[in-house]
Amino acid sequence: MPSYEAPVEDVLFLLNDVLKVEKYGNLPGFSDASPDVLSAILEEGGKLAAETLAPLNVIGDRQGCKRHDDGSVTTPEGFKDAYLTYKEGGWIGLSLPPQYGGQGLPGVVNTIMQEFISSANLAWGMYPGLSQGAFAALYTHANDEIKQAYLPKMAEGAWSGTMNLTEPHCGTDLGLLRTKAVPQKDGSYKITGQKIFISAGEHDLTDNIVHLVLARIEGAPEGTKGISLFVVPKFLPDAAGEAGERNALSCGKIEEKMGIHGNATCVMNYDGATGWLVGEENRGLNAMFVMMNEARLAVGVQGLGMSVVAYQNAVTYARERLQGRALTGPKNPDGKADPIIVHPDVRRMLMQMRAFNEAARALILWVSLKADVLHRSDDEKAREEADDMLGLLTPVIKGVLTDVGFANTVNAQQIYGGHGYIGEWGMEQFVRDARIAMIYEGANGIQALDLVGRKLGRDGGRAIMAFFQEVGAFVAANKDNEAMAPYTRPLKQGADDLQAATMWFMQNAMKKPDNAGAGSTDYMHLFGLVVLGYMWALMAQAAQQGLAAGGNKAFLEAKLTTGRFFMERLMPETAAHLARIQTGADSMMALPADAF
Ligand SMILES: Cc1cc2nc3c(=O)[nH]c(=O)nc-3n(C[C@H](O)[C@H](O)[C@H](O)COP(=O)(O)OP(=O)(O)OC[C@H]3O[C@@H](n4cnc5c(N)ncnc54)[C@H](O)[C@@H]3O)c2cc1C
Repeated sequence: MPSYEAPVEDVLFLLNDVLKVEKYGNLPGFSDASPDVLSAILEEGGKLAAETLAPLNVIGDRQGCKRHDDGSVTTPEGFKDAYLTYKEGGWIGLSLPPQYGGQGLPGVVNTIMQEFISSANLAWGMYPGLSQGAFAALYTHANDEIKQAYLPKMAEGAWSGTMNLTEPHCGTDLGLLRTKAVPQKDGSYKITGQKIFISAGEHDLTDNIVHLVLARIEGAPEGTKGISLFVVPKFLPDAAGEAGERNALSCGKIEEKMGIHGNATCVMNYDGATGWLVGEENRGLNAMFVMMNEARLAVGVQGLGMSVVAYQNAVTYARERLQGRALTGPKNPDGKADPIIVHPDVRRMLMQMRAFNEAARALILWVSLKADVLHRSDDEKAREEADDMLGLLTPVIKGVLTDVGFANTVNAQQIYGGHGYIGEWGMEQFVRDARIAMIYEGANGIQALDLVGRKLGRDGGRAIMAFFQEVGAFVAANKDNEAMAPYTRPLKQGADDLQAATMWFMQNAMKKPDNAGAGSTDYMHLFGLVVLGYMWALMAQAAQQGLAAGGNKAFLEAKLTTGRFFMERLMPETAAHLARIQTGADSMMALPADAF
């Protein structure tokens, strides 16, 4: 059975030495998160993930969820107990506002927990994860009455949340959705329609399930401009605020799927269910985007989490599995063979995973701190800058971290040879579980289009220009620092490639939109390499400073080596992405559809 250990030391290095979390001390909630408190929370959270959630991962996969004739759903053995432990520990409300019963700690702390949980048990983590996303949408857009009725219960974990967008005939193109909302005299609406693929749509973990449902009010315009958001609970809140009368909605089926078997993916039928409008009429997509943006970042974190746990197990196996001899002569002369970790090709895979994981973790924490600034700062300029960067990087995090995260689960499986394909080792489960992250929350092709089509040009390109400026300033500030050259030179080359690709789109995509679509996935990955490279440059700088100050030599030198590997082995791929982008759409689009 695979194992998991939360990377607490690495997280603390990032928070304290690289991202200097103390700089954020003036934001609400940060003064409660002193280095000691942070370290204690992470130790405790890491233990919970490793000892309570990880052992349930295989059970969840084998047992899956069961739907009963009355439409109820039971989760796999142990899931409910683990949920109660998590709830009683106050983990769901960790970073939620104290006004509604949360602990108000920095959002970055919750992001770290999301990584630990995704590594330990992705399917389980989606239950509380979706609740946090639904909380955010209600907190931002619902009226006070709805907030009072739902948010304290959700922050406590007594009630959970879901996100209902997808219908049988539409996933990406939500403008086609048909679910109908009919206004009632009392101000509520009757919701009728079918949603499919609804994660955590029905289960036995909480007393109530709060569905956020996109629907079209009778007479509303066609397309995305006629969509509204509704809160539709499984049980209507009674006079005492508890789960009361059953609402007219039910789980018609749970899907049999490739992975994340422990999470119930439901067909949800709404048969005149009572719901209440959240935010303005016909502005539902805008309101739902609060949840979708949170969820996109969280799904990126899932990609990282899967890559981390797969890597950890691959390292253990590579140290133990004896096959062949090192090219440089035996390393285990008393044994019949050397451990496979001596072979460069096995190292290639391990280093690729490690170099990605450590930079991706830095990236999500960097961006998560920007989200904290956006939500908590009273400095308008700082909020605008944070919002720009968050918007720009959300599709990159979602798309790149899940594409590479999945590829890394395959790399880790490869290290196990044939045993990686066999169920008992757990590696094939990681591959199956990680695959969904590339698809849901907007398939990765859509993330790439969002980046190129919407985020690049927004506000006259303010966000991308700020990014180039920040990276450029870092490179310039270190130009005479020879020790940093192995990091800053490749970073500059990568940033130049990204700039060239951005210019190419500006010159070639307006007149021929297919050029943007044809290059968008390459652009997203090119951007991913540059921003991960920037994270490595920041980490290398912190590691060099740490070494000079007498810090942990083995840990810090490993950082410098891993960063060098990233720059030498992964960063050069920016050139290939740029070359592909600059060929445009011609050969891609030339064949008529019936030639396929
Ligand atoms: C396990 C699981 C859990 C899920 N959980 C939820 C949930 O909780 N709530 C929810 O609402 N939904 C959920 N979904 C649905 C998921 O978000 C959608 O499946 C996803 O967004 C893609 O939509 P689709 O399946 O309709 O594919 P389609 O929209 O039909 O797309 C098919 C392919 O075409 C591509 N494509 C489509 N349009 C374009 C375009 N304009 N340009 C370029 N490429 C395009 C897509 O990228 C994709 O590769 C879940 C799905 C699964 C499998």
